[in-house]
Formats: sequence, structure tokens, C-alpha cells
Amino acid sequence: MDLIWAPWRIWYIQKATTQNGVCSLCSESKTTELDEDNFVLYRGKNCFALLNTFPYNNGHILIAPYRHVRDLKDLTDEEIIEVFRISKIAVNALEKSMGAQGFNIGFNVGEVAGAGCADHIHLHIVPRWSGDTNFMPILGDVKIISEALKNSYERLLPYFRGVLK
Ligand SMILES: [Zn+2]
Repeated sequence: MDLIWAPWRIWYIQKATTQNGVCSLCSESKTTELDEDNFVLYRGKNCFALLNTFPYNNGHILIAPYRHVRDLKDLTDEEIIEVFRISKIAVNALEKSMGAQGFNIGFNVGEVAGAGCADHIHLHIVPRWSGDTNFMPILGDVKIISEALKNSYERLLPYFRGVLK
């Protein structure tokens, strides 16, 4: 099958956004006791990382600042550095624990660009495997997705905790 380069498809299925006026990334960033339920993998000084619960692919990670800012231009230098420092951990973890062969890494800025949570900027890290384009249809079932999320979370966490390198 020939693949067509269609970057908007990558981000099409995303984390549900603002629920009842509450930003999901803000609520997840504030409740540390629910980190396991929210699949939070890492908490840095300014930014945190979690699994996308509406993944494009198995192991789809989001990295966001704690601050509710919309625009790349609003990020401080410290936040930018930390987002990419956490990205390095994520890429290493995905390669070593899940055998990721490649990555799509990027920001969607604004609704028109397909951002699901447009008011709170976040970086997507989507691991890719050869022949993975049929993943979402296979994972169309909510129960299977939640099992896949738990499985990915348990495999990735030791790398984010520094137990495995
Ligand atoms: Zn927010």
C-alpha cells in the first residue's frame, strides 16, 4: 500500500479537550494523586508528560507546560528546554520499551491546525512502526484502548522514573 503524506491525519484523533469549561491538561497537571489513572509519566519543574488517552498510535505521549498557555510564543525558555528534555526521555523510552522505529513529533497550534486542546499547548510524540497505519481501526474498541494504555504506561514508566535507561 502506498502511503500518502497527510500530516493532519496524525493529530486527528486526540485527547478530548475542554470538558465543562475545564481544560483537561490543567486538571491532569494539578491532581498528582491521580497520576496513574491519568497515565501521567513524568513531572518536571515546569512541564509534565502523559499518555494521550485518544491515541493515534500505541504509546502516543503528550508533553505540556503546567501553565495554561495557548501559544508557542507564550512559552518561557525554561519551558521550551524542559519540553525537549522530556522529549528525549520519551523517545528513548519508546524505542527501548516498545521498539519504536520512528516518530512524528509536533505541535498543533490553534483549532484550525487540529489542536484538540487548543488553549493549552502540548507537544505530541507519536511512535511509528513499519506497517502501523491500521492501528486505529484495530483499536476502535474502548476496552482494548484502555488495556493498551495500561500496558504502554507500565512499560514506559521505568524509563521516566530513571529506573531503566
Ligand atoms: Zn490548561
